[in-house]
Amino acid sequence: MKRVVLIAHDNLKSEMVEWAKCHEAKLSTFELYATGTTGQKIQESTQLKLTRYKSGPLGGDQQIGAAIAEGRMDTVIFFWDPLAPHPHDVDVKALLRIAVVYNIPLACNKATADLLILSL
Ligand code: PGA
Repeated sequence: MKRVVLIAHDNLKSEMVEWAKCHEAKLSTFELYATGTTGQKIQESTQLKLTRYKSGPLGGDQQIGAAIAEGRMDTVIFFWDPLAPHPHDVDVKALLRIAVVYNIPLACNKATADLLILSL
């Protein structure tokens, strides 16, 4: 079963929730993971079961980066916000970097996530 991570920065959480609702049937066939608050929002609006890591600013991005490095993740959907500053910017960059290092499919916006989900 594919292991898929869902993360969205605050300004994009509603977009992520709408995207998850739109693709709920397909997403339910995957093993899902999320950072803390993103996962909570998705759980409140869908029937999806997911494993939640810590909130991003509290180390969730680093936990997910470690999981990628250990070969425990297959795909990352990360709606990161290019228009807002983040206290954990270095963690965000590290996660994006490690996903590329390990050649993990990585979608950073809805258009790419739509394409990626169809191909999984
Ligand atoms: P959150 O973390 O889902 O806990 O808000 C996401 C992030 O900021 O990286």
